[in-house]
Amino acid sequence: MSDLYGRHRAVLPDWLALYYADPLEITHGEGRHVWDAAGKKYLDFFGGILTTMTAHALPEVTKAVSEQAGRIIHSSTLYLNRPMVELAERIAQLSGIPDARVFFTTSGTEANDTALLLATAYRRSNQILAMRNSYHGRSFSAVGITGNKGWSPTSLSPLQTVYVHGGVRTRGPYAQLSDDEFIAACVADLEDLLGHVRVPAALIAEPIQGVGGFTAPPDGLYAAFRDVLRPRGILWIADEVQTGWGRTGDHFWGWQAHGQNGPPDMLTFAKGIGNGMSIGGVVARAEIMNCLDANSISTFGGSPVTMAAGNANLTYLLEHDLQGNARRVGGLLIERLRAIAAQLPGVREVRGRGLMIGIELVKPGTDEADPDAAAAVLEAAREEGLLIGKGGGHNTSVLRIAPPLSLTVAEAEEGAAILERALRLIP
Ligand code: PLP
Repeated sequence: MSDLYGRHRAVLPDWLALYYADPLEITHGEGRHVWDAAGKKYLDFFGGILTTMTAHALPEVTKAVSEQAGRIIHSSTLYLNRPMVELAERIAQLSGIPDARVFFTTSGTEANDTALLLATAYRRSNQILAMRNSYHGRSFSAVGITGNKGWSPTSLSPLQTVYVHGGVRTRGPYAQLSDDEFIAACVADLEDLLGHVRVPAALIAEPIQGVGGFTAPPDGLYAAFRDVLRPRGILWIADEVQTGWGRTGDHFWGWQAHGQNGPPDMLTFAKGIGNGMSIGGVVARAEIMNCLDANSISTFGGSPVTMAAGNANLTYLLEHDLQGNARRVGGLLIERLRAIAAQLPGVREVRGRGLMIGIELVKPGTDEADPDAAAAVLEAAREEGLLIGKGGGHNTSVLRIAPPLSLTVAEAEEGAAILERALRLIP
């Protein structure tokens, strides 16, 4: 047992480092691997919660960080720094949002908070449409729109949140419908809902729910929602904190699976862009971004060292076509995991896109979620040197696989073999 265990219990919140019975202390990493304090090596199938996007200790990022740190670490958004403007230009262009403005924060939570601030100020409404089973972060307002009972004391939120059907379809009243029928049912529900509530500021949605267990609605759902929202002036915010940067393989952004009638009004990002450095942000059309007249700075947002990391990381991602790698290697991995799952009654479903793969566990012969089995698989995989994740809140029966996007075929095979052995241990 790690000697930090007792000490962390004494000084940190009880709800930190809960993944394993004996918390894991990571000391260093390289490529798709990390090492613990005892020197044990792990294949990392969770990438620091989808944050190590390219690879651990990527030399290009490390060099950019240390060179920038040698020049200046911090100057604040009272002033400009070149890496920030350059990264903003690149993200604005990649976002697909016309006349885009980019504001940098230091986390996904803060990015969503800012998007909510902008939407409510722009629309003069504090009502927000959010998706059931969603997760958007841990600030007061982000928790207030999160549709997961692990985090959503909505009655305490300063926002009025109304939850919409559609983000998850594995269970619930529309589970048996075809894709087209599902979209039609969700649209009808949204239209009906809008007849009952005041005028909402925005709809915020993760194109694929992350903490919610990697559940994806049918392609085109949010485009169909958009047709309902746009005539009423209601904004569409895509929370791309997990789905951005090519992780889903097919698209650079998750919204593009729903982009038939154009990009969202705002998108929020974080996690992968800094490869572990704290970068979050919002992209919005200028008229929305500039509706704030306060000098609303973030002290650490856009800090030169993080921006240098973001630029180096993005360059590597694009030059090495890691989105294409996510599609190819992720496709093989999903196929392999589905073949394994077909023999195991405790696996309800293997789902996902690119390198964002969920494995939902149930008690064999039932449709009852099995969080204990998921916890046991996590422990067994750790024993064999594989780190994986699981869903949060009421989704802890879903294993989450989201390695760095540079995963090789051999590593995918190795991880799948360990997972197969771990899954076979479930009684
Ligand atoms: N939005 C989504 C979709 C997320 O998955 C998360 C974190 O997991 C957040 C927002 C919050 O990001 P952060 O933890 O960087 O504050």
